[in-house]
Amino acid sequence: MRVAFVGVGRMGRPMLGHLLEAGHEVRAFDLDAAALDAAVADGCVRAGSAREAADGAEAAITMLPSPAAVEAAVLGADGLAQGLAAGTVLADMSTAPPALSRTLRDALAPAGVDVLDAPVSGGTIGAEAGTLSIMVGGEAAALERARPLFEAMGKLVVHVGGHGAGQAAKLCNNLLAGIHMTALGQAVALARAEGLDPAVLYEIVTNSTGDSRVCRTRFPAPGVADVHPANHDWAPMFTVDLMEKDLSLAEALVAEHEVVAEPLASALAWYRRAQANGLGGLDYSAVSVAMGGGRGAD
Ligand code: NAD
Repeated sequence: MRVAFVGVGRMGRPMLGHLLEAGHEVRAFDLDAAALDAAVADGCVRAGSAREAADGAEAAITMLPSPAAVEAAVLGADGLAQGLAAGTVLADMSTAPPALSRTLRDALAPAGVDVLDAPVSGGTIGAEAGTLSIMVGGEAAALERARPLFEAMGKLVVHVGGHGAGQAAKLCNNLLAGIHMTALGQAVALARAEGLDPAVLYEIVTNSTGDSRVCRTRFPAPGVADVHPANHDWAPMFTVDLMEKDLSLAEALVAEHEVVAEPLASALAWYRRAQANGLGGLDYSAVSVAMGGGRGAD
């Protein structure tokens, strides 16, 4: 297929790499010239705007850092909406509010463009391996048209429900990951205060009931295993800023339904403290630094 791809950052670039490998033709656009250069070096065609990327495309994908960026790239001046033809499908794979999917659906329906929300889980490691979990909201027929693209990038493609349902599932998942990381931050701070070696705690937890994928991929203490961002001065796979964004979206959804606010509210406050301490650009495991867990191997 001919695919327009907007947003070729930490996630978008490896994702579109799998589309190229599967034989799709990808026209990419990104506001960041260096990010776009890297995607072109991978084999994409360079587009000068989202609209230009959409020209002649059968499908379009957005992988952008905020709901405002998605709205701008789709509905703004020189946006995808101006270039996509009737019969095409747009999949927003960013993490965004469920309501945005319905806004895009309503805006693009008159032009005959189908919209899907298709956020992902699995992080940069899953994007590179082509093993993302993809949670899809929207019409089943549109999902079937986009399925070859999703299957090139992920190993689990789930049709969750109507427009916004994929985003709702994604926000539930990230609520779990975000809260769990603050629990790990508290456990590491307590272990240190008790004079325990975090590496010993890690060995115990990964063989006990406190185990989780969050723990195994980003344990918040340096010196435990190479895989963890803490071992690389918290170089981000997924930033504190993005986790704060996702938990804020989850909080808004929680408030809409009058679901209990805790423990999400408490976790979100810790990510905001981490941002205030200048840690926003680090991996989200660095929330533990704001929680007293220490930044270096001390
Ligand atoms: P990123 O910041 O690395 O990449 C985003 C890219 O979008 C950047 O290159 C930026 O220049 C570009 N951009 C921003 N506004 C634009 C616009 N209006 N038009 C064109 N390009 C624009 O972010 P990322 O980590 O790749 O995350 C992207 C999305 O994926 C986010 O919604 C995030 O929540 C979600 N996500 C990320 C991860 C992860 O582990 N990083 C995992 C799952 C989901």
